[in-house]
Amino acid sequence: MSFPMNTFSTLAAPLLEQPVLILESDDWGPAPEEHAEALHGLRKLLTRHRDPTGHPAVMTLGVVLSIPHMEKILDTGEYAARTLNEPQFAAVLEAMKKGAAEGAFHIQLHGMAHYWPDNLMAEIGRNPEVRRQLLEEPWHTERLPSWLQSRWIDGRRLPSTPLEATQIQQAVQEEVALFESCFGRPPSVVVPPTFVWDDSVERAYAEAGLTMLVTPGRRFTGRDEGGRLLPEDRIEINGRRRAEKLTTLVRDIYFEPALGHAPAAAVKQIQRKWRLREPALLETHRFNFLGENKESAFAAVEQLLSEAKRKIPGLLFRPPQDAAGLLQRNPLVLLHTPSLLWRRLRPHAI
Ligand SMILES: [Zn+2]
Repeated sequence: MSFPMNTFSTLAAPLLEQPVLILESDDWGPAPEEHAEALHGLRKLLTRHRDPTGHPAVMTLGVVLSIPHMEKILDTGEYAARTLNEPQFAAVLEAMKKGAAEGAFHIQLHGMAHYWPDNLMAEIGRNPEVRRQLLEEPWHTERLPSWLQSRWIDGRRLPSTPLEATQIQQAVQEEVALFESCFGRPPSVVVPPTFVWDDSVERAYAEAGLTMLVTPGRRFTGRDEGGRLLPEDRIEINGRRRAEKLTTLVRDIYFEPALGHAPAAAVKQIQRKWRLREPALLETHRFNFLGENKESAFAAVEQLLSEAKRKIPGLLFRPPQDAAGLLQRNPLVLLHTPSLLWRRLRPHAI
């Protein structure tokens, strides 16, 4: 048995008092009406599934608030964007709000855009394929090269360098303000695009009033000369405080039906998380629920929720803040439960 560097962190992570499942979906934003239909379909599906307290199944929507305005960009040579609160996207915004009002969606901040505008402008200038893609489907920003989807780097040239703290601070304030004007409340949970962020970003998020940071269990801070993620610089666990006010959560179960992730395998991971006394956050993306993938993805979510409820008695559906509220912060509890101690020492073996 090997003891990885993060063993102590994993052991010390707070214990969850009841099993919790959260479906986390990213990349929703300004888009054609088909996306509103997908959201209504998800809302109806989620509200058909209830936990023992009557709470509907929860899917978080990580929202990207704007997309490039390509005609303007090519016309002027300056960056310009279309935002979610423009009338042409009203159907999508309404679908998000309706699901949130019914308790099925929890709206989270993904970012003002799924890129840093200066990086996008540099790439538009030198990459005709990116230019063509964005002219055709400007909303489809999750199709951009992976490195370009990182928001919190200066990637005009690779390897990336950090952005100035003041630039980050201003950008975070702008995205929080736009979020509030779209949804009538400021965001509380943030999912940094491609999970690349640094200390300045954490401070800016905390100063802007965000309280929860969704992580994949580690932090990446930049991209190398080939655009690949730099090695992680930190391990993240559930319930740790960052920049004083920001509590971390770990999302590390992947459930993308369009990529072949089966509901049965995801349910096993949810069970494993509960044995470790950790919340189960499943990562998924909007692309599963659109176009040709749509029907099988809806069926997969249906099956996942039914099986998870059947196999995990007492399973709760809750938004992230509520899940964090169910974390028991006294690690000494572990000493009274040797079997749990053992499971946390070998988290992938159970
Ligand atoms: Zn994303």
